[in-house]
Amino acid sequence: MAIEIESFLASVAEAVRSRQVPVVDLIAVQSNDPFKVLVATILSARTRDEMTARAAARLFARAQDADALATLSEEEIASLIRPVGFFRTKAGHLFRLPTELARFGGQVPESIEELLTLPGVGRKTANLVMAMGFGKAAICVDTHVHRIMNIWGYVATRTPLQTEMALREKLPVTFWREVNGLLVAFGQSICRPIGPHCDCCPLGGLCPKLGVRPRRPPGAKMDPQRPLKFVSWNVNGIRAIEKKGFVDILLSFDADLIAVQETKAQPEQLSEQLKNIPGYTSYWHSAERKGYSGVAWYSRLPPLAVHYGLGEREFDCEGRLLTLEFAPCFLLCCYFPNSGEGLKRLDFKLRFNDRLLTYLQQLEKKKPVILCGDYNVAHREIDLKNPAANVKNAGFTPEERAWMDRFLDNGYVDCFRMFNNEPEQYTWWSYRFNARAKNIGWRIDYFCVSAAAREKVRNAAILAEVTGSDHCPVTLEYLC
Ligand code: SF4
Repeated sequence: MAIEIESFLASVAEAVRSRQVPVVDLIAVQSNDPFKVLVATILSARTRDEMTARAAARLFARAQDADALATLSEEEIASLIRPVGFFRTKAGHLFRLPTELARFGGQVPESIEELLTLPGVGRKTANLVMAMGFGKAAICVDTHVHRIMNIWGYVATRTPLQTEMALREKLPVTFWREVNGLLVAFGQSICRPIGPHCDCCPLGGLCPKLGVRPRRPPGAKMDPQRPLKFVSWNVNGIRAIEKKGFVDILLSFDADLIAVQETKAQPEQLSEQLKNIPGYTSYWHSAERKGYSGVAWYSRLPPLAVHYGLGEREFDCEGRLLTLEFAPCFLLCCYFPNSGEGLKRLDFKLRFNDRLLTYLQQLEKKKPVILCGDYNVAHREIDLKNPAANVKNAGFTPEERAWMDRFLDNGYVDCFRMFNNEPEQYTWWSYRFNARAKNIGWRIDYFCVSAAAREKVRNAAILAEVTGSDHCPVTLEYLC
């Protein structure tokens, strides 16, 4: 059934009326200056509005225009904008901006094509500058606009660019400028990427909710017909990610069990907040070496038993495996060893993997097994951006991939590939070279289930939009 876009957007506008105006819109209204809108938009990528606002205020106090910006060194710009994500990359873009603007007489150009030639300016930024900086009809399609328009079935597209082109065809021009601000506010508050709040959404009865798994409303009872939701995430340091809003992100998953790898913390180093997240009991298996490895589970369900490690000291002192036993299945959170630079730890990893396989075979004799975590291997060429360049590198060696073959030959199923055989589906990106923004990544985080559990798998996905670590979370929906 086709939706009425005018009434949908009117309901959204009403629902987000009391919300804070997005920072770029605010700067546009307050300054009426395309240069400031451009700079604020560059700063805002992958950064919370509060941080963007603070960084923009500090930078504009020193540089009101391109001429003033040209007097600052790259290091000065970096230190002024420091709280924003990827501040070094953005400082580089802003440092080069005055030189690039000189091609346009020192002014911000007024066409998408010209804007796209500026450093750090992609299609989303260019459209936002056109719309908010120059007041022109342009549609800025970010992740919220792309996602929500597809949930509504107003478009059926796979990429933000396809969404922009589809909206140009059918969205009335009167909505072009405002649709981004509306859907960003709506996507951050109600129609969230994970567990949208359909229970309190004004569109609840009208929205087709395509591809959506609404949150369980607070206080709602467990539904036996509803699959359990599991999440696995290598957080690359739980104390570091705590400062980036980990607890709120975890709660937004609305998951029954959450596996965490690379906690890099001893139990006594954990805050009360991390140990006692409302609604969850946490279990920890840390490495003996401080700041290294470590795994954990957050569970809404009480397990029958908790098993720490593999029963062999050389592996267990690294805190790599934590098993929760439930009546219907075993759930294992594993942080596989990395083969390391020069493959120095490849032998260790292969021994760990073989010992793990033996352990799994023992568990399988009792009940189905679900093994999630950071496997530290991309299985097939489709699972990383540059397979040819990485055949001798940790995580893609023939030995590591052969173990994965053997593991799957034992009946295990890579759940994500049950639902998605597309390339460029990654879960880890290097912090270097702006790899995440360019989607130069690897798929090394998995949910795999034993043969007996295969029929119970309902969905598996990658939550690439969730930031905070160099990995993103992966999910499994499973009907016990
Ligand atoms: S009903 Fe749910 S999916 Fe639809 S717009 Fe509202 S929050 Fe989003």
